[in-house]
Amino acid sequence: MRFLFFIMLLLSACSPNSDIRETRFIMGTLVEFTIAGSNREIADQALIEATSEMQRIEDAFTIYGNAVNAVKAFNATSPGTPVELPEEVATILSISLDVEKNSKHAFDPFLGKLNLLWGFSNDILPTHPPLAATVNDARPPSQCIRLKDDSKWIRTDARCVLDFGAIAKGYAIDRGIAMLRKHGIQNAIINAGGDIRIIGSHNGKPWHIGLRHPRNKGEVLGTLSLVGDISIVTSGDYERYFDYEGKRYHHILDPQTGFPATTSQSATVITQQATLADAWSTALFVQGESGLSMMSKLGYAAMTVDQQGRIHMNKAMESIFIPAK
Ligand code: AMP
Ligand code: MG
Repeated sequence: MRFLFFIMLLLSACSPNSDIRETRFIMGTLVEFTIAGSNREIADQALIEATSEMQRIEDAFTIYGNAVNAVKAFNATSPGTPVELPEEVATILSISLDVEKNSKHAFDPFLGKLNLLWGFSNDILPTHPPLAATVNDARPPSQCIRLKDDSKWIRTDARCVLDFGAIAKGYAIDRGIAMLRKHGIQNAIINAGGDIRIIGSHNGKPWHIGLRHPRNKGEVLGTLSLVGDISIVTSGDYERYFDYEGKRYHHILDPQTGFPATTSQSATVITQQATLADAWSTALFVQGESGLSMMSKLGYAAMTVDQQGRIHMNKAMESIFIPAK
């Protein structure tokens, strides 16, 4: 018996070709890790560190739950007070402000008050929309933040409440991949509920990624066969939503109206860093087809599915997308 056990151990230690798959619940999502070409011992150590780093990021950025963090503290300061933010938070804020500017305000990191009002991140989904007047009162002004002396941030108005819900998951994926790499893992996927970063290959072959059909659960619009260091992030109106009087209300808000954006069913952005792909997939969801030119300008592959279910892609996406038959 002991001999058999020894052989089994030896087999698992010597078979780098079988994938190691693990799932963890982080950031309100099942996060799947797939590691290829590695052994169990190394993968286990790497997974412990990747998981705890991703959890640390959730705790550092979330405005929900009991975690104490700098984002919540900033949101609690009186408008006009200069605040020094931790370097990591300041970096993600700067990226968010860049995306806000380049997306013509389709992306807005200051929708926290509105998001709390809508309640899409609550454990139990709401059943009806808030009153239009309350939505209007919770909408932030267009200029929410000022930088003082290059290091201190000032919120300008009580309606300016930071919420990194559209970018923090991507950042956590990037950090998770960094932790896997630190342990020498070169071939892996982290898939956090459809937000994906791949590195390397699947035993010398491409990784195959399916892009989910926004309406037909279990079906894909098509697939991508990719090798290298690439993130594929999708924002969809099917992730968190409720129906009320025949209309779908979902968690991606149009900053212009304070109501769920009405342009798309889903939007996918492909670029190296998941942080950027995450922020931009939310922005592109709000912008719809008109946002594709900016994606091309930035060198990203991108696709949107509009309200009628029609697919729009830029050239970079056309060159890699394999439609489902
Ligand atoms: P995602 O699923 O990455 O598209 O992000 C959606 C989450 O980001 C929501 O649950 C909100 O917390 C937040 N959010 C909603 N609308 C926007 C928006 N227009 N810009 C930035 N963040 C948003
Ligand atoms: Mg996003």
